[in-house]
Amino acid sequence: MDTTVIARSIETKQSIETGLPRSLTVVRNDKILPIYDVTPFTMLDFPGKCAAIIWFSGCNMRCGYCHNPQIVKGKGTQGIADIFTFLKKRKGLLDGIVLSGGEASIYPGLPGFAACVKDMGYAIKLDTNGTRPDLVQSFLDQGLLDYVALDYKAPPEKFKTVTGIEKFQAFEKTLDLLCTQTIVPFEIRTTVHTALMEERDISAIINDLESRDYKGSYYIQNYINNGGPTLGMLPSQERTLDLSVLPTNKKFSIEFRNFP
Ligand code: SF4
Repeated sequence: MDTTVIARSIETKQSIETGLPRSLTVVRNDKILPIYDVTPFTMLDFPGKCAAIIWFSGCNMRCGYCHNPQIVKGKGTQGIADIFTFLKKRKGLLDGIVLSGGEASIYPGLPGFAACVKDMGYAIKLDTNGTRPDLVQSFLDQGLLDYVALDYKAPPEKFKTVTGIEKFQAFEKTLDLLCTQTIVPFEIRTTVHTALMEERDISAIINDLESRDYKGSYYIQNYINNGGPTLGMLPSQERTLDLSVLPTNKKFSIEFRNFP
């Protein structure tokens, strides 16, 4: 027999024995997913839902203020069977699962994984830096998303300085995809460390969102030094953003997080 067929037979048998979802039969039972950790319960990270957070390791950006270098540079620690055992046990106790990281969208297996999570009855929130518009489009087409939190890292001229990569055009595509649909609620957020971002940068983002007819909430998050290492070993901020000079507008709400 063809070795591929043998392998598939074995994998299918394993899926029957373990009860893992059929769509994951091409993945071995003992496969370690690129999942760094799981937060088993949160009421704060998925609006209106009791949720768990799945933290995917790895990221295609290198934001200097990133508080999660261990996740960005880390490897997966969780076996597929453990994750699905957890999800099965929490059915009825949790409403939703947050796919976060790192950057979950760079994991090639995410569509299959998300489809399984959705099939189990969970709502899905995706936290993303917006560099995979193809994946977001496909998730929207398949009805896999219930909420999206999109990071608007910086205006185009600052994008590489803040993130380490030239991906503003990809981010912009994701932003347009979300702004031109009405099915899936989403929020946009920017973290500000004033060594990287100034008032005029945030003003440019606000004006850009207005020009795109954005209607949701825009969260401006003040960088907080939590004492741990950051990816770029940034020093503490010498000042916080001067909120009084930002444009006011009437088309969408602007919310401030972690400002004194
Ligand atoms: S803050 Fe930047 S580097 Fe850190 S996980 Fe998010 S996108 Fe990646």
